[in-house]
Amino acid sequence: MDFDLKEDHKALQSSVRSFVDREVKPLAAQIDEAHSIPQSLIDKMRRMGMLGSYLPEEYGGSGLDILSYAIVVEEVSKACASSGILISAHTSLACDPILSFGSPAQKEEHLPPLASGDKIGCILLTESEAGSDPAGLATTYRKDGGGYVINGSKIFITNGGYLGTGILFATGDRSLKHKGISAFIVDLSSPGVDVLRNESKLGIRGSYTTSFAIRDLHVPAESLLGEEGQGFKIAMETLNGGRIGVAAQALGIAEGAFERALAYSRQRKQFGRAISEFQAIQFKLADMYIGIETSRLLTYRAAWLKQAGRPYATESAMCKLHASETATYVTKEAIQIHGGYGYITEYEVERMFRDAKITEIYEGTSEVQRLVISRALLT
Ligand SMILES: Cc1cc2nc3c(=O)[nH]c(=O)nc-3n(C[C@H](O)[C@H](O)[C@H](O)COP(=O)(O)OP(=O)(O)OC[C@H]3O[C@@H](n4cnc5c(N)ncnc54)[C@H](O)[C@@H]3O)c2cc1C
Repeated sequence: MDFDLKEDHKALQSSVRSFVDREVKPLAAQIDEAHSIPQSLIDKMRRMGMLGSYLPEEYGGSGLDILSYAIVVEEVSKACASSGILISAHTSLACDPILSFGSPAQKEEHLPPLASGDKIGCILLTESEAGSDPAGLATTYRKDGGGYVINGSKIFITNGGYLGTGILFATGDRSLKHKGISAFIVDLSSPGVDVLRNESKLGIRGSYTTSFAIRDLHVPAESLLGEEGQGFKIAMETLNGGRIGVAAQALGIAEGAFERALAYSRQRKQFGRAISEFQAIQFKLADMYIGIETSRLLTYRAAWLKQAGRPYATESAMCKLHASETATYVTKEAIQIHGGYGYITEYEVERMFRDAKITEIYEGTSEVQRLVISRALLT
């Protein structure tokens, strides 16, 4: 067993780290305030190959592995969680299902513009009455001539505002519940797709969270991803992979907050001593660090299992659950270590605390992760 990163992973980590220090960190506060990521930064991330990290080179990707992708999301999220989830949702939730379930023609058509970042990808699963229970979704499709017509609505879609390529889930027969669901690759700039709003949020404010109305959206037969009725399976497998990305995002947020808390504790003096000399602060730092290290081990292991083609659904639920709860805990303690300054926007832990919470909610809440893990234990 070898717990060290390989040389190529270390080299990637170091080059992404310097990119983030140079290009992302200085913009993080502005991204939060402006509720959007500058296109110039997205273009730089595209040029770094960050939007196609583990897509094969034949489709314009960087041809890296899943661990490399996790490292990229982690490093970017250390500075800016909004940029981290842009990469994660794009890669795991849009590129991956096409790579895993697409026909050769669908891969050739859709993956190159996604790998280059010319199109930003997203997944359209959640509806107002179908969140943790997506089998209850109400968006419908019916056959029409050679294609399909889709009607319904979708909410909370990360990256939706870019109007790029979406993996949309709809039912052909609600009475069949999850067996009636199919997945479609859709162009979100098509007539029939209307943006209702981009949500205002507690955290990850630079990330678009978009609601859509879908009215008589006509799609050709070739947009069906996989087979009819396979949509639920595609959604669940896609989310298994996505949870590695969210875990990496949460890990990065926690690391970013920890680095700042550690540095601050050394520098801040009260009662004539650095606060890092107080055991109460030392114990906080120790507990925060343990949470981060265990999150990293679980996340990298899930990435390694996915890469090896081995079952990893339980492991991805575990890393997502643990890393997200760690991010919430670590960012809260980072504020505490900063005292009053931690509550002030200028000290970035305030933003990180707000950013961390969502990692416990999207791509399956913590309660849903516990269901996934306990079911695996009991079957
Ligand atoms: C910022 C943001 C971005 C998002 N991005 C996307 C996206 O890109 N694409 C997309 O399709 N969706 C996206 N979502 C939706 C997200 O995945 C859902 O919000 C999430 O799965 C929870 O669904 P819900 O909000 O309907 O909550 P509900 O399902 O209504 O859950 C409410 C509460 O009940 C609990 N609960 C529900 N069922 C059970 C159960 N069986 N046992 C125990 N507890 C249970 C939940 O854990 C939660 O605490 C996003 C959401 C947000 C806020």
